Amino acid sequence: MGKHAQVQIWKKYEVKDGQLVRNFKLCPKCKKGILAQAPGRVFCGKCGYSEIVK
Ligand SMILES: [Zn+2]
Repeated sequence: MGKHAQVQIWKKYEVKDGQLVRNFKLCPKCKKGILAQAPGRVFCGKCGYSEIVK
């Protein structure tokens, strides 16, 4: 239980098999923005790139 409480701090990360995994994608277009999640799609706040998520 004590260990799990720490995970709450890292809301953008996910722990898989004891490793921190980034729970977000870097924009493939500008490589600088982080794709923000919206219902049904993700979009880059920097360049405006968007991608449909199934
Ligand atoms: Zn971008």
